[in-house]
Amino acid sequence: MKLLKEKIMQEGKVLSEDVLKVDAFLNHQIDPVLMKAIGEEFATRFKEAGITKILTIESSGIAPSMFAGLTLGVPVVFARKRKSLTLSGNLYTSKVHSFTKNETNEISVSKDFINSDDVVLVIDDFLANGQAALGLLEILEQANAKNAGVGIVIEKGFQTGGSLIREKGIRVESLANIKSLADGKVEFFEEDPT
Ligand code: 5GP
Repeated sequence: MKLLKEKIMQEGKVLSEDVLKVDAFLNHQIDPVLMKAIGEEFATRFKEAGITKILTIESSGIAPSMFAGLTLGVPVVFARKRKSLTLSGNLYTSKVHSFTKNETNEISVSKDFINSDDVVLVIDDFLANGQAALGLLEILEQANAKNAGVGIVIEKGFQTGGSLIREKGIRVESLANIKSLADGKVEFFEEDPT
């Protein structure tokens, strides 16, 4: 997605060979115009999939998911990383090791909001080693819900997550796919037309 790649080039900061900081438009400050375009792009790519719900993980997956949900006309559910007093019992849970924080969180989703009638699109901000996406997919399995695929804003294609999930036969659509962050520079995989 051209607009997203331009934004990454302009405002992304390469922190190391495997971490990209995009606090200026996705992970801290949020660019609503870009998020709207991203949501619409996910909606276009998955419009034939019969999606009834979007599942993401707090907090940075929520903004792009909201616009995809708005365009597809479906609710957005976000998995919570911390137990809340109001979120007890009646939960699907799975363990997710965070790539950036190097800690393991138990994520949870209320059974009230996903069930076996749902066709669910999983969305997240980054795909690195795939742990967040796999945790969300595990929750869908517990719910006996159908998965329509995984939508990722920024995939780091040089890490293992993308192949791990695609090898399971799951459709992964990433809007920008990074080939390398070596030498402080962002290099993308081949151009896509969007
Ligand atoms: P994974 O679970 O695929 O290993 O990592 C994905 C999660 O880690 C995303 O939800 C995202 O929050 C975080 N993450 C992974 N790599 C990066 C990165 O390079 N930059 C930022 N800002 N977050 C990342």
